Amino acid sequence: MRHSQLFTKTLKEAPKDEKSINAQLLIRGGFVDKLMTGVYSYLPLGFRVFKKIENIIREEMNKIGGREVLLPSLHPKESWQKTNRWQYPEMFKLKSRSGKNFSLGWTHEEIITPLVKKFVLSHKDLPIFIYQIQDKFRDELRAKSGLLRGVEFVMKDLYSFHQDERDLDKYYEKVKKAYFQIFKRCGLEKQTFLTLASGGTFSKYSHEFQTVTPYGEDEIYFCQKCKLAINKEIIQKEKYQCSKCKSKKLKAKKAIEVGNIFKLKDKFSKTFNLKFRDKDGKEKTVLMGCYGVGLGRLMGTVVEVHYDKNGIIWPKEVAPFRAHLIQIENTKKVKRVAEKLYQDLQKAKVEVLYDDRDKSAGEKFAEADLIGMPLRLVVSERTLKKNSVEIKKRSEKKIKLVKLSQILKYVK
Ligand code: ATP
Ligand code: MG
Repeated sequence: MRHSQLFTKTLKEAPKDEKSINAQLLIRGGFVDKLMTGVYSYLPLGFRVFKKIENIIREEMNKIGGREVLLPSLHPKESWQKTNRWQYPEMFKLKSRSGKNFSLGWTHEEIITPLVKKFVLSHKDLPIFIYQIQDKFRDELRAKSGLLRGVEFVMKDLYSFHQDERDLDKYYEKVKKAYFQIFKRCGLEKQTFLTLASGGTFSKYSHEFQTVTPYGEDEIYFCQKCKLAINKEIIQKEKYQCSKCKSKKLKAKKAIEVGNIFKLKDKFSKTFNLKFRDKDGKEKTVLMGCYGVGLGRLMGTVVEVHYDKNGIIWPKEVAPFRAHLIQIENTKKVKRVAEKLYQDLQKAKVEVLYDDRDKSAGEKFAEADLIGMPLRLVVSERTLKKNSVEIKKRSEKKIKLVKLSQILKYVK
């Protein structure tokens, strides 16, 4: 993509009302725009990051057998009355002209469970794994952390359906692994920890995936011996002791909950009478699990972890472009070589943002640092004297001259 064709512009200062690092940097870089508290538009650069994250999640969900669907956002009151959640405080409600009541989806157990009931008769129909990547709406009181807590936000929610606990447990472990794979690919492997959380009335524990950052909203107690973490909600109940290795060497850390997985067991299947016939023809209740991850929250978390005083440092797999090609001086020769390199990189399937504008080197470099592509390629009269291009990794200070003929090999 040509920089001159991006309709967004970078800002020198962040808007005064944005306190979080992710919102400040993402708005300054032209990745997102705030419509109102907790509601953001994704602009071309931000949408590319969003799509990368979406694809990573989709790939990992498909690998564990997930079947993608798209459920409605608009729900009838009746669905929510069945589970006594019509009064849920975070749920947005609306009325049609004819006086019918609706809500906007903030989660989808009430929709997916009766849907699956239409297709499940016997044990042969199980297990089933269904997920969607879709807008959720929550009337959040504390929406002040940019993409970390939206009022409208996109979530991937997966629901699994099983004939017994063993099968549910087995799949639950598979999802755990898939989640770690997602966070690893997003560059958050080192900072993200499995965290015990309350399991509600049906299981002893649920699990959160918490990414440790100085400005996280959550607090976790991290076991230095076995690396398990315990969330604030249950640490008292666990008597400030690691639930796994019993060590008392726990350290409190601020963290962001990037994902949450939960064994629902028969909580919803019972209400909706979701049953199947087992091998002996006996009727049994289906057991369920649910597994969520917020795409915007994940994107915001990546920024909270990967930045410096000049801007964002995107990890390779989620960067909007792999390379940022910059021509400086704007002379005929420089432009000709840069244009050619832009074409060649594209032909070689390297995603590249080409700064073709007539702006000073200083301005272009500052913007390149702010928007944070992993590789910066600079073509100038000086580099061309050596038949070379200057290459710098966003995460390093070192600058290297690479011969024009070697560039494709180097970048790939
Ligand atoms: P929190 O305690 O942070 O409010 P939650 O327990 O309400 O989260 P779940 O309902 O389990 O979250 O949602 C699953 C995932 O969706 C979360 O782990 C998080 O990644 C994401 N998520 C939840 N609420 C929001 C929000 N308001 N904005 C962005 N992402 C969210
Ligand atoms: Mg919540």
